[in-house]
Amino acid sequence: MIKPKVIIHGGFFSESHTDAATKLAKQESMKRIVSLAYAYLLEHTALETVAFACELLEDDPLFNAGIGSQIQSDGQVRMSASIMDGISRKFSGVINIQDVKNPIRVAEKLLAYDDRVLGGEGATAFARSQGIEPFDVRIPQRIKEWEDKVAARGIGTVGCVALDSKGHIAAATSTGGKGFEMVGRISDSATVAGNFANYAVGISCTGVGEDIVSVALAAAIGTRVTDGASLEAAFKKSFEELAAFDGFAGAIGLTAQGEVYHADSHPSMVYALTDGAVVEVF
Ligand code: ASP
Repeated sequence: MIKPKVIIHGGFFSESHTDAATKLAKQESMKRIVSLAYAYLLEHTALETVAFACELLEDDPLFNAGIGSQIQSDGQVRMSASIMDGISRKFSGVINIQDVKNPIRVAEKLLAYDDRVLGGEGATAFARSQGIEPFDVRIPQRIKEWEDKVAARGIGTVGCVALDSKGHIAAATSTGGKGFEMVGRISDSATVAGNFANYAVGISCTGVGEDIVSVALAAAIGTRVTDGASLEAAFKKSFEELAAFDGFAGAIGLTAQGEVYHADSHPSMVYALTDGAVVEVF
């Protein structure tokens, strides 16, 4: 029997405020959520668990996904989220969805459809067709940042990779974007550059979406591991490619063998990991 493991991330500390109290609050929250996700994983599949963990992170206003998402240049929030099942290899996602509390749950619902990545109004209309109620995710702090025009270029996203007792891996990632971006900008979070899983490995990324796409970060690490590299070697090689142009990204990963790794190009990503015995938070 395989030892279940779960790893989550909450983006970079630099997201909006880097004061010690916020950092501590994020770490406490990550600890709580990774422990809840692990307990859930003992009774559920990796796929069900990554959606559950991302939903908890989206519901926490400390993180830039769901409630607490960054506001774009026109004052609207547009969110992106995706989920990938390592066994069926199905990837589904929503890009620039609006007025929903949990984009990851909309992405999860799309796994059952032939058209599995929806954007903009189509994504929002699909959520409504599934009975998902409108929800304004703008919190007063983000509105104030936007009004002060200081929200620009915050970095933060949430993600989860889980390995269940059957050895199945799944990955999920959800974001409010970079903040203050142009309308129509596409995030990496609902692409295989930002979120990837197969039978061997699962990866979730955060950082500047344009940089993550430039090296196809999650898919590159995933392909290297699938072709025989260790998780650490695959991370190192892929982060070298990112460093070549001073790309800004962080990633978490798990393999079917139980290897766990995380890296960030710039300090510092907040993440938490548990296999039930120990909860590590950074
Ligand atoms: N990767 C996300 C994006 O570019 C932002 C982030 O991870 O902070 O939309």
